[in-house]
Amino acid sequence: MSILKTEDLKKYYGEEPNIVRALDGVSLEIEEGEFVAVVGTSGSGKSTLLNMMGGLDKPTEGKVIIGGKDLSGMDDERLTIFRRRRIGFVFQNYNLIPILNVYENIVLPVALDGETPDGTYINKIISLLGLEEKLGEMPNNLSGGQQQRVAIARALASKPAIILADEPTGNLDSRTSQDVLGLIKMTSRQFHQTVVMITHNEEIAQLADRTIRIEDGRIRESRWNA
Ligand code: ADP
Ligand code: ADP
Repeated sequence: MSILKTEDLKKYYGEEPNIVRALDGVSLEIEEGEFVAVVGTSGSGKSTLLNMMGGLDKPTEGKVIIGGKDLSGMDDERLTIFRRRRIGFVFQNYNLIPILNVYENIVLPVALDGETPDGTYINKIISLLGLEEKLGEMPNNLSGGQQQRVAIARALASKPAIILADEPTGNLDSRTSQDVLGLIKMTSRQFHQTVVMITHNEEIAQLADRTIRIEDGRIRESRWNA
């Protein structure tokens, strides 16, 4: 069974005659453990798709089904809890909380959920991402690559089934991008997670199992990478 599925997903902004069809009928299925890259030009609908998949925004029409659950059937409160427990988000600009140190940033989502962090698991993530020496640092004292590693650790902390990443390497140089991508790939394999990642970078997309190309709110191509 697919872990993530969209059915004829549509998202329109504004009204006729100036309506923007950001997504115009996207149907796709992603299997558990897959690493998918979503590519396409600026404005093609990639972020809108990711936001719908993560329940951050509601579709105009169509469905998002995660682990057999239809997100449109959930009210906002249930959706928030579902998101926090099942989905890890990674963004281009890291979105770390500047007044919390690295460790506090990593465990924040778990704490917000009222859970006690699983120390053994959290320590494993910290060591896989090479953050042991940085736990007491404030985000602003870290390089971009380091901040993104913290953001990945935070995304993993709640043991999500799915990682949704929006241009995770968009602000990083090419070597750091390769490193960060390698880490996302390694941790997702280790913890059996499914990853959907938006990228502009064709080289980075090649590192995914599959590339889905979006144009004008529709899927143009879906191909397995060598
Ligand atoms: P991409 O991530 O591929 O750059 P987006 O999903 O951000 O594309 O945007 C797709 C289209 O939807 C663009 O034309 C964009 O201007 C429009 N759009 C995105 N978000 C909004 C919004 N909140 N209000 C109006 N138009 C939007
Ligand atoms: P990384 O070590 O994550 O690959 P970069 O390649 O971006 O980081 O940076 C190279 C080195 O420069 C790193 O060792 C990092 O400590 C340092 N550095 C870069 N930017 C900053 C910054 N804003 N604050 C502190 N150190 C930085």
